[in-house]
Amino acid sequence: MVAVRIGGRPVWVRPWLYVHTSSTGHKIPVILLDTDHDANQAEDRGITNTLYGGGNEYRLRQEVVLGIGGVRILRALEFQVRTFHLNEGHAALLTLELLHERRAAEKALGANDPAHVYAEIRNSCAFTTHTPVEAGHDRFSYETVHGELGDFTDYEELRRLAGNDRLNMTQLALNLCGYVNGVALRHAETSEKMFPGYRVRAVTNGVHVETWAHAAFAKLYGEAIPHWQHEPIVLMRILHVPDEAVWNAHQTAKRDLFTEIRARTGVELDPAVPTLGFARRMTGYKRPTLLFSDLERLQAIAGKTPFQVVLAGKAHPHDTDGKNKIRWIHDTIRRLDKNIRCVFLPGYDMEIAKSIVSGCDVWLNTPQPPLEASGTSGMKAALNGALNLSTLDGWWVEACIEGVTGWAIGGDGGDVSDATHAGALYDKLEHVVLPLYYNQPDKWRWMMKQAIAVVPSYFNSQRMMRRYASEAYLR
Ligand SMILES: *Cc1c(COP(=O)(O)O)cnc(C)c1O
Repeated sequence: MVAVRIGGRPVWVRPWLYVHTSSTGHKIPVILLDTDHDANQAEDRGITNTLYGGGNEYRLRQEVVLGIGGVRILRALEFQVRTFHLNEGHAALLTLELLHERRAAEKALGANDPAHVYAEIRNSCAFTTHTPVEAGHDRFSYETVHGELGDFTDYEELRRLAGNDRLNMTQLALNLCGYVNGVALRHAETSEKMFPGYRVRAVTNGVHVETWAHAAFAKLYGEAIPHWQHEPIVLMRILHVPDEAVWNAHQTAKRDLFTEIRARTGVELDPAVPTLGFARRMTGYKRPTLLFSDLERLQAIAGKTPFQVVLAGKAHPHDTDGKNKIRWIHDTIRRLDKNIRCVFLPGYDMEIAKSIVSGCDVWLNTPQPPLEASGTSGMKAALNGALNLSTLDGWWVEACIEGVTGWAIGGDGGDVSDATHAGALYDKLEHVVLPLYYNQPDKWRWMMKQAIAVVPSYFNSQRMMRRYASEAYLR
């Protein structure tokens, strides 16, 4: 165990070791930090209890445990760390702990070169920013910081590194990390505009294909494409697999989803009807209600070319607007019931996510540009033969080949208003997507194979990790 000082008291941090064994047999240690220990006061025992609990003080205490406690635990366990990778600013206080360490080392050598200390820390830290949305960037008043951290740090220096008015964890990370990236090409451009003067590179996100392939697709890939799990670029060989095999695997996933929906909600969907899916965190900028902007038009489209809709998602506990949107969607589903079969699956988690991304035919994604940093559910969908229908933001800017891997809603940039994008969505559904499903089944199957060949062969976590390893970790 190690101790950190919070609010003037020592708080003991206990590590738990979880060892994940990868499918190639490699062992990956995961260290989980815990303050629920007898040596701590009741209040401090709860610091690691809940992800979204309490207010700003509670959040800062968690970040002290993660950032400062994290470094101390790694040192105590004698890990040799070459690069610290900060995912978001949450762990950015670790840079202050490294400052202490480096200064103590310099002092022992009789040296005193502040520029050299900063350079060394920047060499050993990488920072990934994950969202252009303001609420994703932690900020703390210096009053709060002083209350929790006391004299741990030199406040004049901290204000220089992390912001004069408030401690901005993103700014602290930007200033002390020698490598900074966003999670898609477009997101890196957006981030450079948000943080003038900083170079922001791009490592586009990817998904772990072995985790996200439905059993029917895992079987098909296993038979036709050796090594697809740990070298997913070979998924481009799906092009030599017969259309029927791909179609059948997807139909199996679709039936499994409908069985799950019946069991959980009692709603019966029709496997012959094209099915749109939308499942993700329910929050304003993702515009979960965009599809339902004009119910008359939506019903007119369904009258000509029937379709059904599956939705799922939770809101952040503090996101009142997100919760209201979920309520509004439930009301709307009831109103549409006679004409369009829609179902909202409760209890959204990874299991439900996997069953929806694999069982829907069209994966709908409607973020308001440029607010979606990457998005990943569409990658999971493509891996399972679903076709993406999405506004051009985040990862889809890089993956969309119109009429080949899926379709864009609206243009790239220009007018990104709700009204314009809703119109573009209806036009695409009415004139392109649904007629294709009904009238050109061969073209649809061709597109499914194109999506599998192009999307998961690149947007996978192996390619992503290689990029991080070669560009951020082994600089
Ligand atoms: C993939 C996934 C997400 C991310 O979805 P986006 O479309 O990228 O917002 C969110 N939640 C769960 C449970 C997921 O599996």
